[in-house]
Amino acid sequence: MANDKQTLGFQTEVKQLLHLMINSLYSNREIFLRELISNANDACDKVRFGALENPEWIPEGSELAVRISIDPNTKELVIEDNGIGMTREDVISNLGTIARSGTAEFLKNLTGSQKTDANLIGQFGVGFYSSFIVATKVTVKSRHASSSSDEGTEWISTGDGDYTVQTISKKTCGTTIRLKLKSDASEFSENYRIRHLVTKYADHVSIPVYLKKPDIEEKTTKTEEIESDWEQVNQGTALWTRSRSEVSEDEYNEFYKHIAHDFEVPLSHSHHKVEGKLDYTGLLYIPSRAQFDLYNRESPRGLKLYVQRVFIMDRAEEFLPLYLRFIRGVVDSSDLSLNVSRELLQKDTRVESMKQAVTRRALDMISRLAKDDEKFSKFWASFGDVLKEGPAEDPTNKERITKILRFGSTKQADCLKQMTSVDSYIEKMIEGQKDIYYLCSDSSANALGSPYLETFKSREIEVLLMSGRIDEWLMSHLDSYKDHKFVNIGRDGLELPGEEKKDKNQSTKQEATEHKDLLERVKNVLGSKVSDVKLSIRLTTSAAVLVLNENEMGPQMRQIMSAAGQSLPDESPILEINPEHAMISALNKESDDSKFSDLSHLIFDHAKLASDGKLEDAPAYLSRVNSFLMSAFKDE
Ligand code: ADP
Ligand code: MG
Repeated sequence: MANDKQTLGFQTEVKQLLHLMINSLYSNREIFLRELISNANDACDKVRFGALENPEWIPEGSELAVRISIDPNTKELVIEDNGIGMTREDVISNLGTIARSGTAEFLKNLTGSQKTDANLIGQFGVGFYSSFIVATKVTVKSRHASSSSDEGTEWISTGDGDYTVQTISKKTCGTTIRLKLKSDASEFSENYRIRHLVTKYADHVSIPVYLKKPDIEEKTTKTEEIESDWEQVNQGTALWTRSRSEVSEDEYNEFYKHIAHDFEVPLSHSHHKVEGKLDYTGLLYIPSRAQFDLYNRESPRGLKLYVQRVFIMDRAEEFLPLYLRFIRGVVDSSDLSLNVSRELLQKDTRVESMKQAVTRRALDMISRLAKDDEKFSKFWASFGDVLKEGPAEDPTNKERITKILRFGSTKQADCLKQMTSVDSYIEKMIEGQKDIYYLCSDSSANALGSPYLETFKSREIEVLLMSGRIDEWLMSHLDSYKDHKFVNIGRDGLELPGEEKKDKNQSTKQEATEHKDLLERVKNVLGSKVSDVKLSIRLTTSAAVLVLNENEMGPQMRQIMSAAGQSLPDESPILEINPEHAMISALNKESDDSKFSDLSHLIFDHAKLASDGKLEDAPAYLSRVNSFLMSAFKDE
């Protein structure tokens, strides 16, 4: 065999990850075993799938399994599998780079603080490289199922920045990983310790994990055959195929960590077997925090797909809508064919029905979570904004999704922190109230002082405060919930509930005729700044307020659109004035045209400031305020 030994450098990201991992995962270092067993399990899944087309990939009579042994002489830990194996190219790209997009950015965000970084790295998925937390030297020997015995590859690294690869001969297909343990990691050369870790981390893994029994030390005769036994330490059945009552909470949690590469236990799970028109088993999880690439469009998402227990693919996107992309889990279908591909998945109508069913299960699971305040608020903080994409993407489940949504509210004891559901809003409606009132603003704190709320406060009507990044966009897809209309109180056409409304409207009409001249005068003065000037029913203490036409884009939407490079139509809000306000009475009595104009502009500017905190023409505003102040001093 030609000596084709090469020394190659790790990709920069790998070097960074190795460095950070070794420093921040020290107290969690046993997870390296979970990662290596998980890879071995994946490799066996893959060879089983490949063998559908290439039966010779699994030699007759061989059982797919992981074998763990401790070399009695060197005390090295050896993890061996007879899975798919790797070619030389595979080895170089899999064990020398990180292919995941967004990795460089992710690594930049690590802080250097051990505790936070441990969490972040855990969520990133440390995988194979975690071997270097416990090992000074890692040797991988691998042979792909399609390769011959002289096409094996050996990969060796001390984790310092480079590695060597060379071609070796290897009798069997699969991968063997040999770890030379650091001196302070000798616990991992203890049989009982490894046994404990395998039961802890790999009980649910669907292939058997064997542990080599330690050699019996003092042999009686030299000629006696030293038959070292392998003992199966895990259960070795796919967890989702077991019945719910047989699986403990711990097992569910460990299985989650295995498939999601997460360190933390999930918030909740849903395990269901469906029979009938569709025949499948689903096991879904809600992670306890957002994945770092949750908002990255290209990042992998979806469920692990099995067909009749045979692993088909990771991250099958076809079984969940985008707005549930944070859900992790497995679907195992009895209906689909084993040679299903991504293209076929997209066309298969059964897949669409499964998607609908799985979506329902996921939404139910989230709704159930709402019974636990602490867990639910964690969920909402991590995934609330993603769920808000739901009504636009999945109109058929609008009501189910709306049930889960939470908003700030004027009736929460601490309305800036606590959130309310729309259902609990409906419970608190006042007599005669039919609509659900909400106000969009950039922050709940700003919203609270807003003049739009005046009449709602005095009538004790609750208002939902929407200050989320995409709330306004969300509301453009939510018109009603359980027969209650959503009404934006910052818009024209507001109606208020109950008897009072009629009275007020009648009196408004009366007042409107009384104030007809005033309204017209103001409108003329303000010109194109406003589309109309009206009397307000929403004010009790402020002089005026700006409202949007019913179909006009609000400020958040304008921001989203302009960020997307779209040109925006000019704004022309309606100015509503409060006839009972002293300033409006003063305006009404003003006969000097220039003073009337100045005061009208000031009233407009104040209303603008109250609505979005911005002035169109600050110097003009200041000069008007100055002249009013000056005249006030002159009078004295
Ligand atoms: P992940 O498992 O999330 O892909 P890892 O760092 O754990 O990331 O592994 C990187 C890649 O190396 C795997 O995707 C796989 O292709 C390959 N690999 C690792 N271990 C094995 C193994 N035992 N057999 C075959 N391939 C493996
Ligand atoms: Mg892995």
